[in-house]
Amino acid sequence: MASKRDYYEVLGVERGASPDDIKKAFRKLAFQYHPDRNKEPDAEEKFKEVSEAYAVLSDVEKRQQYDTFGHAGISGRYSTEDIFRGANFRDIFSEFGFNFEDILGRMFGGGGFNFQRAQAGPRRGSDLQTRIQVTLEQAAFGTEVEISLNRLQSCSRCGGNGAEPGSDVSTCPRCNGRGRIEQRTQSLFGQMIRVVPCDRCEGRGRIPETPCRTCGGKGLEPGKHRLSVKVPPGIDDGTQLILRSQGEDGPFGGPPGDLYVRVQLKPHPHLLRRGKDIIYEAEINFPSAALGTSLNVPSLTGEKSLRVPPGTQSGTILRMRGEGMPSRFGKGDQLVHVTVNVPEKLSRRQRELIEELDKEFEAQSNKKGWFRR
Ligand SMILES: [Zn+2]
Ligand SMILES: [Zn+2]
Repeated sequence: MASKRDYYEVLGVERGASPDDIKKAFRKLAFQYHPDRNKEPDAEEKFKEVSEAYAVLSDVEKRQQYDTFGHAGISGRYSTEDIFRGANFRDIFSEFGFNFEDILGRMFGGGGFNFQRAQAGPRRGSDLQTRIQVTLEQAAFGTEVEISLNRLQSCSRCGGNGAEPGSDVSTCPRCNGRGRIEQRTQSLFGQMIRVVPCDRCEGRGRIPETPCRTCGGKGLEPGKHRLSVKVPPGIDDGTQLILRSQGEDGPFGGPPGDLYVRVQLKPHPHLLRRGKDIIYEAEINFPSAALGTSLNVPSLTGEKSLRVPPGTQSGTILRMRGEGMPSRFGKGDQLVHVTVNVPEKLSRRQRELIEELDKEFEAQSNKKGWFRR
């Protein structure tokens, strides 16, 4: 392709752009052109173009190669798959909730393109998903939550190699021990020959003569995984944490998958979170509003005393500085919304007092020359 655009131009960044700038630029463009969102006819082509530019420029070695030799330096040295392999698309796309492997899989054809495990060899374990609930206070200050998961893990009987202890392991007849086979697929880039792990031996090149009795030769057995999840301070409701290598074990010594943990906030009985601020609704009676008072209000760090100044109107918002959630932009505040209550029922004594007060107000306003009917 002679008319191939400059990668920096594609991403709209300077030649000397930092890895962070490159990532930012790609994130923006990829979101814009993602074929699931953008139905323009050239969106897929654009998406492919920005993905390729990012794959090259986000890799120190490929970027250097490109800076020195241009497109020729890349196409002469890397296959299309090699260009994409190793680029960290996964994190960027999980932020959007897109499955990047799925979308590039569709573009490359065959649906099986996978950057993390394109290399022949033992298959990677499956990713797992779970959710945890934390209180507002835990979300504010961070916490650790113990969880227990069911997952497939390396078989205890055969040590994960799938062979009955004491039995022999022989060369795989399908791949002749290479662990890899070639696969031809049609894709947007034309026909592609891909080297994929052998499906018979799962990339090992060897198969057990007698499969392990516990795992049936799969190398994996169900088990319980207990771990502690660190929740960072200031986390938002619905945030997904990625715990690398905490998913299922890969068969036959393959690398483990990742664990995705979605963090949900339990509702707080008194406090409401709004961004980095905390909202508390306080009700006071008329005398307290008029005379001023001191309230005990719940906060993230326990009960706090709050001074309500004399003459406070209903609807006033009192600010407790620094009592909100921590965030990248500094600590939030706690905002106390004050409502002045008008009593619906009065005791005889209360009625007398208020009537007296009413007369006093009336006298005062008459003095000022106002008239009441
Ligand atoms: Zn086993
Ligand atoms: Zn094989």
